[in-house]
Amino acid sequence: MFGRLLANVSQRAPSLLSRVLLTMKPQVVFVLGGPGAGKGTQCSKIVENYNYTHLSAGDLLRAERAREGSDVGQLIANYIKDGKIVPVEITIGLLKKAMEETMEKDEKMCSFLIDGFPRNEDNLAGWNRVMDGKADVKFVLFFDCNNEICITRCLERGRSSGRTDDNRESLEKRIQTYQQSTRPIIDLYETQGKVRTVDASRSVDQVFADVKAILDKEG
Ligand code: UDP
Ligand code: MG
Repeated sequence: MFGRLLANVSQRAPSLLSRVLLTMKPQVVFVLGGPGAGKGTQCSKIVENYNYTHLSAGDLLRAERAREGSDVGQLIANYIKDGKIVPVEITIGLLKKAMEETMEKDEKMCSFLIDGFPRNEDNLAGWNRVMDGKADVKFVLFFDCNNEICITRCLERGRSSGRTDDNRESLEKRIQTYQQSTRPIIDLYETQGKVRTVDASRSVDQVFADVKAILDKEG
């Protein structure tokens, strides 16, 4: 694989990722679960305690939506409000860039929590297409939480989050997208024995105790 990479690199200007990857390969944990399951909250706690970089696909998309001069800002805004999944080229471009920037700054920072991705088949196919052989997916951390709790939490968060999708109408669509498109991705990883499930309906500290046990075991 390095031979092929080097051949490619010699033919054209090496991308930043190619250069960085010659030193270290990113180790990725996908963090999945319904809207409001607590992915972001738990990822912040992981970052405080372990040597991971947290990349939230949703946060990266919201930042791109807000970036002046972005060609895709309006498209992202429409998808998010509708609870639909943004075309993967956009999301993966943002994730790849964020990973490159992190490793460029410090090549030892090669462990990533990728939060809220992959959300559907298109996302997964895009990841496999672009990142195959360039990153290792260690496992999927799945925050399992029922719809009622998810909705209640998001509506509560919506009182202060300012998010355009933390309202009942968007939430119904987000939950539907999650059930129809994201659950099958989790199920697929489950068949590969790659899912670590946490009961996310409990308090932040109770959930984090389970998360810690998983991370301490998995390294
Ligand atoms: N989104 C997307 N692709 C991704 C991640 C997020 O299209 O890979 C969009 C999608 O419209 C989603 C919204 O961003 O409903 C909010 O995602 P986020 O992960 O922030 O929500 P959470 O699940 O954390 O509540
Ligand atoms: Mg989130």
